[in-house]
Amino acid sequence: MLVTDGVITRVEPGLGTDGQVLNAAGMYVMPGAVDVHVHSRDPGFPEKEDFASLTEAAAAGGVTVVLDMPNTVPAVDSAGVLEAKAALAHSKARVDFGLWGLMRSSTTPDELEEMAAAGAVGFKAYLAYSFSLSRKQVLYAPGSEDPDLEPPADYGTLARLAPVVAHLGLPLAIHAEDPTVLAAFRRPLLTYQDLLESRPPEAEAVALSAAAAVAREAGAHLHVAHLSSALGLQAAEDAMAIGTTLTLETCPQFLLLSADDFDRVGPAMKMLPPIRTAADRAALVDGLQRGVISMVSTDHAPHTDEEKARPLEEAPSGSPGVQTLYLSCLQLAKDMGDVWLAPRWVSESPARLAGLENSKGAVAPGYDADIVVVDPRRKTRVAAHEMRSRQRHSAIEGKEFDFAIAQVYLRGEPVGQGSKAQGRMVRPALVVR
Ligand SMILES: [Zn+2]
Repeated sequence: MLVTDGVITRVEPGLGTDGQVLNAAGMYVMPGAVDVHVHSRDPGFPEKEDFASLTEAAAAGGVTVVLDMPNTVPAVDSAGVLEAKAALAHSKARVDFGLWGLMRSSTTPDELEEMAAAGAVGFKAYLAYSFSLSRKQVLYAPGSEDPDLEPPADYGTLARLAPVVAHLGLPLAIHAEDPTVLAAFRRPLLTYQDLLESRPPEAEAVALSAAAAVAREAGAHLHVAHLSSALGLQAAEDAMAIGTTLTLETCPQFLLLSADDFDRVGPAMKMLPPIRTAADRAALVDGLQRGVISMVSTDHAPHTDEEKARPLEEAPSGSPGVQTLYLSCLQLAKDMGDVWLAPRWVSESPARLAGLENSKGAVAPGYDADIVVVDPRRKTRVAAHEMRSRQRHSAIEGKEFDFAIAQVYLRGEPVGQGSKAQGRMVRPALVVR
């Protein structure tokens, strides 16, 4: 392989030994991962994470592009906030990054168009989450009558704005939980079973089906974040069968763990939607193997170690994961009989979602030299205290993978521990229809 100015120019044997030469004999040379779902917490919650620690963890794990969700503080609901966040991220990012824009119930078509022009990779609607007008923050506050809280984006919001998103040629991502289903099942969270019953799979399936109907009518591309249930998968397949443009991501925690693990792991595995039953896990693995679920993202969502040590009811939801994405997927792919499925899930399909299919997601001439060298002769045991994220806990602590990340390159430059802020903002090629 020949790399010139950060771009792959030729991929063939016998290219000589001019310049810097890397010997990857016995290794897999794979494209860097594009994690379409991370929470940098920056700006807003520097005690949890920031762009430097997030992207250092990403680089160490072979993730060379992260797409950051808009629920930082202030939330990314306008072009001005997006541009300010882009400048902040650029000053710290060790790998490339893209930014999602927020779709609030009050968002206007102009605001979407301005965010698209500023480089948003797409828009995210949190169907069960309110918006604090004073704090500029996305909040889960079911049943609250606080006048400071703007109601969540609902199916009406989607119906009103999906045609605009379709026109911009960007994906419309949803947090698929229907708030009325959640309201019907609210309860104190004394046990993990309470958590499961308070966020039933019906909430995911209902939200997904309704949003899919709206997106299909508008000709918009619907992207479902963190798919967690067999019922949600069935709803998605039904929508795809009648022609909805719909992509699904699921996460390593849903593919590697089930509710049975809670007694061992504890609140470190509290996340929303929750890690569900062994049957849900099996359905998601099967959906991934069949290609219906085309990508794996992390929903990397750090909270402080102290916060995650609280009892189940008070512990916040979410857990770090960006550093173990590639290894988790390599193991799942190996167990399915083809390690090369992993770069399809974490690199090729996500790059297409982000509108980066001409520069990221493949080891081929013309693509950025974002490269992960994987050693299949070395094992890795997940030890959260050795991770690069600011938070040193993991829901998959102790898991062993039959691979190690040997080296990671961003546009031809090595990245990882101690690397500098060399990440750039990625922007989808805008196709206004
Ligand atoms: Zn998330």
